[in-house]
Formats: sequence, structure tokens, C-alpha cells
Amino acid sequence: MSLVNFNKTVIKNLFSKPATRKYPFEPKVYPERTRGHVVNDMDVCVLCGLCSIKCPTHAITVDKAAKTWSIRPMSCIQCRSCVDNCPKKCLSMDTQFTEPGSEKLTKTFPQSEKAIAAQEALMKAAKERAAAAAAAKAAQAGNAANANPVANAAPAAQAPAQPAAEKKDE
Ligand code: SF4
Ligand code: SF4
Repeated sequence: MSLVNFNKTVIKNLFSKPATRKYPFEPKVYPERTRGHVVNDMDVCVLCGLCSIKCPTHAITVDKAAKTWSIRPMSCIQCRSCVDNCPKKCLSMDTQFTEPGSEKLTKTFPQSEKAIAAQEALMKAAKERAAAAAAAKAAQAGNAANANPVANAAPAAQAPAQPAAEKKDE
């Protein structure tokens, strides 16, 4: 770098705004796309477990029996894989970083009553649809049997098949 360019850079830096933040004197305002920590909307989460499968550090645990979703913030590397793979789009990245601490905490969140009710309603509707489809199929089979009784009659008893050749043991 020539002396002229060096001086230009020095003068420019002296009069321009610093690229860094004066922590802790400036407020904690993070850019919109900052990957701080993972947040789950438990009103929407269906505990499918996909986020847990996709997490490369196994930071997420889903307990379907206990109806809980847990995360270990200190194990999270903010890769965003869980957010991108959640089928319900209930995961997001908050811009606030996890506060440092001396313990490896596990944060557990119960599935909300609203989400449980919605899931039960869906399962009930699916069961009703399956029962209706089975009843319709049975009715269709009954109609076909009534319309053609000869074709659907039980076949006459047949003589047992004989072997083509028999070989005697000597
Ligand atoms: S957060 Fe999304 S991917 Fe994870 S268990 Fe809930 S619905 Fe499934
Ligand atoms: S952001 Fe990445 S590391 Fe963190 S919980 Fe999600 S998948 Fe796991």
C-alpha cells in the first residue's frame, strides 16, 4: 500500500462511524437476521419430532408421552436446521443470544391445551373418515353380492387334486 493510500484510509476511518458496537454502552439491538436462540410456539407444535431428528447436536428432545418439547440452549449451534424443517412452521430464531451461564440447562415446554385440543379434533375427524370409508366399502360389496347371486355363489366342492405321477419307495 502506498503512503498516499495509507493516509487516505487512516483519514477515512477517523471520520466514519465504527463498524463495531460499543458494548455495553450501546443497547442490545441485533440485526433482524441474527440467529440468537430457537423459540417454539407451543400453541402450534404437534410434537412430531422432526426438529429433534434434524438437529445435528441433539439439542432438542420431544417427549410424546409427557407432551413436552425441550431444548438445551448451550448445545444449540444456531444452525437453523430445526426451523427450516418444522412442518408446522412453529419454530423461529429470536435475535437475542442465550445468556452465558455456568450450568448446562434444559428448557422444557409443555404442549399447550389449545394444541392438544386441535390435535385430538384432527385425530377424531380422521377416525370418522376412516369409519365412513369402511362402511361405504362394505355397503358396496353387499350391493354387488345382491345384484349377481350366481356369480357370487360359493363354488361347488371339487375332488382333491391328484399328483401327476407317483413314485413308490423301494
Ligand atoms: S417444533 Fe415443529 S418439527 Fe418440532 S416437534 Fe413441533 S411441530 Fe414437529
Ligand atoms: S438451531 Fe440447529 S443446533 Fe440449534 S436446536 Fe435447531 S437444529 Fe439444533
